[in-house]
Amino acid sequence: KVADDERNLTRFVLVANEAEQPSPRVPHKISLRLTLNHHQGALARCLTVFDRAGVSLTRIESRPQPGRPWEYQFFIDLMAPPAGSDLDTLWSELRQSCRTLRELGRYPSRSKLRVAAPAAPIPSDLDLGSRIQVEEKGHSVQVGDRTIGRKNFTLILGPCAVESRDQIELAAAMVKRRGAHLLRGGAFKPRTSPHSFQGLGEEGLRYLRDAGRAQGLPVVSELMHTGDLEAMLASTDMIQVGARNMQNFALLKALGKVDRPVLLKRGLSATVAELLAAAEYITSGGNHQVILCERGIRTFETATRSTLDVAAITILKERSPFPVIVDPSHAAGRRELVVPLALAAVAAGADGLIVEAHPDPDAALCDKEQALRDEDLIELIRGLDPILAARGLSR
Ligand code: PEP
Ligand code: MN
Repeated sequence: KVADDERNLTRFVLVANEAEQPSPRVPHKISLRLTLNHHQGALARCLTVFDRAGVSLTRIESRPQPGRPWEYQFFIDLMAPPAGSDLDTLWSELRQSCRTLRELGRYPSRSKLRVAAPAAPIPSDLDLGSRIQVEEKGHSVQVGDRTIGRKNFTLILGPCAVESRDQIELAAAMVKRRGAHLLRGGAFKPRTSPHSFQGLGEEGLRYLRDAGRAQGLPVVSELMHTGDLEAMLASTDMIQVGARNMQNFALLKALGKVDRPVLLKRGLSATVAELLAAAEYITSGGNHQVILCERGIRTFETATRSTLDVAAITILKERSPFPVIVDPSHAAGRRELVVPLALAAVAAGADGLIVEAHPDPDAALCDKEQALRDEDLIELIRGLDPILAARGLSR
């Protein structure tokens, strides 16, 4: 350490033969080296280009130019603009105001997506030494054509499990009609009993994808095993990690390496700190497209399937930049409770809901007691709209 400041940081630069391009969906930085013509206002003109493009600089440093006394080169780090932005125009405008311009590299920006330590210590909380800090509020995750988070409220609807081509097609049409933005459906099911329906596997994923496409809905499904990751990448727009796998670290690490949004559900008895640490397993691999899901936890209460932790919605949003969605179905365990819990979650600030719905719950092979019918979906939407309006959101 060459400083007496406790927070002294050392920056390492990785040099490679081939430039590696981070996914445009993952927040990343670009490092540039530029030199300016020795004219009055040259630096100001160059900075105006960044300003006009809405690009934020995180570092600018000047260094003398070897062999050119009193002329300087500038090293600049900038936050890459969102996917789809026109970088070529930015570069060509910059070139007009610089003498030379060189991109040194791009790399995923980790510092933006760190989860904060609690404002005040929570005595019962584990100190997981989390390095995540909330530096960026309103982080959003793009799933297909849907932006989850920020000012968008997202409804994910569909059956617990994909049971047949017909069933998922009917379900997709029903939920689309009621305003779903995404279709859910499990193909690999984590069932408590090995004798229960285990899901249709890859065949189910194909039915789900086709049903989603037919209705213009991106799809989400659960992954339980890294061996099925390829099939998931081929068929799903978002990958769900279920409550039982929240601490399946091999699975989380594998998901950190892929370019696909992850819906991470809270474990049955996991604390908020453990959920955030699990999310950090994914982000530290480079995949920042994480959405957290509160789905109820085990308590002494047996009147509900799980106890929906409404406070966790606010705490997760305080302590992390990730969108938070709520699953009232698995917390409730029975149909009558699903809508009230859903509305409570939305009033508490959830960025969306994931709710089980089935065209014919009595015939469902999985979680039939908690599946909403078409008429329950209508009731859900009717209750939702005034609460969303009060929050200044729309569906
Ligand atoms: C599900 O979404 O069907 C599911 C199994 O959820 P959880 O992992 O929250 O129990
Ligand atoms: Mn279920």
